Amino acid sequence: MRTEVLVVGAGPTGLFLAGLLATRGVEVVVLEQRSRPAEHSRAIGLHPPALHALEGLGMAEAAVAEGVRVRRGVGYGDGAGPGSLLGELSLDRVDARFPFVLTLPQVCTEQLLAARLEELAPGTVRRGREVTGLRQSAAGATVVARAGEAEEQWEARVVIGADGTRSRVRELAGVGSTARDWGDHYLMGDFDDPDGEPGAHIHLHRDGVVERFPLPGGRRRWVVHTGRERVPERAGELAGRAFERIGLAPEPDTATMLSAFTVQRRLAGRMVSGRTVLAGDAAHGISPIGGQGMTLGWLDALALAPLLQDLVQGGPGRPGRLSADDRPGGRLEDHPGFARFDARRRRAARIAARQAEVNMLLGRPMPSAACRVRDATVRTALAAGARNRLARLYTMGWAGRS
Ligand SMILES: Cc1cc2nc3c(=O)[nH]c(=O)nc-3n(C[C@H](O)[C@H](O)[C@H](O)COP(=O)(O)OP(=O)(O)OC[C@H]3O[C@@H](n4cnc5c(N)ncnc54)[C@H](O)[C@@H]3O)c2cc1C
Repeated sequence: MRTEVLVVGAGPTGLFLAGLLATRGVEVVVLEQRSRPAEHSRAIGLHPPALHALEGLGMAEAAVAEGVRVRRGVGYGDGAGPGSLLGELSLDRVDARFPFVLTLPQVCTEQLLAARLEELAPGTVRRGREVTGLRQSAAGATVVARAGEAEEQWEARVVIGADGTRSRVRELAGVGSTARDWGDHYLMGDFDDPDGEPGAHIHLHRDGVVERFPLPGGRRRWVVHTGRERVPERAGELAGRAFERIGLAPEPDTATMLSAFTVQRRLAGRMVSGRTVLAGDAAHGISPIGGQGMTLGWLDALALAPLLQDLVQGGPGRPGRLSADDRPGGRLEDHPGFARFDARRRRAARIAARQAEVNMLLGRPMPSAACRVRDATVRTALAAGARNRLARLYTMGWAGRS
């Protein structure tokens, strides 16, 4: 079987990139190992650059209609009750068109993306196909996929590894990666939220951070730092720890999702290698704290789509193929456009990873003396003129320039 661009992985990155390629008239197929879409609501935060990216597929309005617009973040220090309030961050000035962070569970975002892709190019996503082999040549690549008992072979001019942090494509392409395990554990869950208050609340307690974010449908995401300990995935465990720290807790019986996770950073040594390009978590798995992963993947896709179009259809004013095809070996990293993509997108990932790690360090358990210093610093930052810059930083305002 043949296609121009073969995307491995129908997560948010793969679906979004395939949608962009379809709008550009580029033939694309997506192979996904799962036979059904995932049901786990991992990412909930869509920053303004993500919403601008969705506009490219004509989807921003639909997403905004389904999500909750978070226009302010409220920070609390050690302790409980109103006395722990450190200050507030308004998002009113972070973006002219989208002055908010949208919360929408990843399952809903993926559903919207899949439906849009199906409209643009029906049958693009082939489910139940696990990619197990990859062979590259000067003109393209051959991919082997297991489909139940059968095996399929796909020929493509370029293969995109959008297959997540444990990327098989990255491994098959021989691309190394560096990993750092921070050993910080969290318990996360989605619960009923009778208040329905649309602010994001971050409690920097001495026993570890408690975070509360509004979700559509009168729900709220709770995240609790559990120190170096991986605790059982139980709603009562999460609610008990939250209550001990801040005197507030979700109703355990209303949990629809629970997950214990640990923070890891994994960055690929290269995003472009031969006829393979990595995108999204396959290229850069960063800490979920701060919620930047999905936005990063979409920005990879936005930068990559025009390069792939040029590769397949010929560059602007040039009827032939992109010059990478004329070079010995056909390696995409030899082409200036792909080389620039590689450098810029890995730089953006490093910035996001560092920011996520600062967030994580601020929310770690710490002795009360250290808490007092941290709280005073955060209170000053939230009160000072730097507030708008901070708001832009936390909503990935830097991402459009990197
Ligand atoms: C707890 C948690 C909370 C998070 N919160 C946020 C947030 O609020 N905001 C945010 O932006 N990000 C958040 N993230 C990160 C976000 O979920 C990821 O960045 C995002 O899912 C990455 O998308 P992706 O498409 O690159 O990879 P994935 O979502 O991992 O998708 C990869 C796809 O590839 C498929 N696949 C894998 N191997 C193969 C194979 N060999 N053959 C075929 N298919 C294959 C998988 O089945 C999967 O469908 C969070 C992550 C976690 C864990």
